[in-house]
Amino acid sequence: MTSANPRKYESLDAVIVGAGAAGVGMGVVLADLNLDSFAILERDKVGASFREWPEEMQFITPSFPSNSFGCRDLNAVTTDTSPAFALDREHPSGGEYAEYLQGVVEFYDLPVWTDVDVESVQRHGDEFVLHTSAGGIQSQFVIWAAGQFGQPNDAPFPGAGHCVHNSRVGSWSTFASECVDDPVVIIGGHESGIDAALTLANLGHEVVVLDEEGPWQFRGLDPSEVLSPYTSQRLQEALERDHPIVLEDGIRVERVDTENGSFDVVGTNGEVFTTQNRPVLATGFTSELGPADDYFEFDNDQPQLTDRDESTIASDLFLVGPQVAHNGQQFCFIYKFRQRFAVVADEIAARLGVDRTPLEEYREKRMFLEDLSCCEPDMCDC
Ligand SMILES: Cc1cc2nc3c(=O)[nH]c(=O)nc-3n(C[C@H](O)[C@H](O)[C@H](O)COP(=O)(O)OP(=O)(O)OC[C@H]3O[C@@H](n4cnc5c(N)ncnc54)[C@H](O)[C@@H]3O)c2cc1C
Repeated sequence: MTSANPRKYESLDAVIVGAGAAGVGMGVVLADLNLDSFAILERDKVGASFREWPEEMQFITPSFPSNSFGCRDLNAVTTDTSPAFALDREHPSGGEYAEYLQGVVEFYDLPVWTDVDVESVQRHGDEFVLHTSAGGIQSQFVIWAAGQFGQPNDAPFPGAGHCVHNSRVGSWSTFASECVDDPVVIIGGHESGIDAALTLANLGHEVVVLDEEGPWQFRGLDPSEVLSPYTSQRLQEALERDHPIVLEDGIRVERVDTENGSFDVVGTNGEVFTTQNRPVLATGFTSELGPADDYFEFDNDQPQLTDRDESTIASDLFLVGPQVAHNGQQFCFIYKFRQRFAVVADEIAARLGVDRTPLEEYREKRMFLEDLSCCEPDMCDC
């Protein structure tokens, strides 16, 4: 269900901003607690960021309908749903995953208010006032779930404006059809850079990937830091089949110059990669929190959180999603950050005096990660 837009100065117990993976998953936990005075505000549609992925892009984390044996589908946002089952896909595309999220919204009858853009968040006494494109909303609790997709890191060096960030490519085949017979230079060799390289190479284009570290050479326990097995396997197979992919590590791009329709991608050691195709930025996303930024303290670009994922400087304001980090570990995959929804819900329910027993199921089903010692660097068992 996507409900009617808010009336002027609607007053609620809790507001979730964003109906992506984090907002929808968090909404299910609040619904399980029988909270009836909450809403999920979404500026676009449910799963909007996923709908904007390049059409060829698929999930790297596999989905499998393993719930009945106690192992949650890695891409599920609730204890009992499975994108693998709902979509009959192991590696869904962004559009398919958005359909799964829409299905969750309908199944749980979540109060999602679409086309409501949160323009500002202000603290007034004990409450927050959110100014939105559809009027003002007062709420005791705000759960920020607006994701990172709207904040591409697209100005990491001078001349980056001559490039295109991979999140702005709607279709690699359309991009490829506009390329001339010259290599495509991709800046950044993590998941999205290698994924773009594989897709463009499959479309018959020569590709050069530049990265300072060269993450494709490393293995490690945390797939946030090295290539996932899915991408690593596809890369090995492509290289064995002599696909035209050149991987250059040790290159820190310092700037991009352009002249007469040609681009020079320049490294800090004077290396120059010249191409007539627009270079691709696969430089990730920033950790900014848009209108909620002023209510979080940042250290090293990381929003600072209590052990209940509440802002350290504004009580009753929580963060869920990929910007959550503890002990140096970024909860940037769905299977990581979904384990914190119940922690946030538990805290809110305690403050509202609501019965918290429905959360026991989250504990039993291992969707309630309170012991953050499992997330200390080098000790993560995931
Ligand atoms: C290319 C790519 C591939 C990925 N692959 C995987 C993968 O294989 N496995 C995995 O686990 N993770 C993957 N991720 C990460 C995963 O997609 C993100 O962690 C996830 O989307 C984060 O969910 P979210 O709900 O926080 O943000 P989003 O899904 O981005 O949702 C945020 C929502 O908030 C809305 N919004 C934003 N600002 C406002 C506002 N001011 N007012 C109202 N609404 C607002 C947006 O429209 C959006 O719908 C990938 C990410 C990318 C970019």
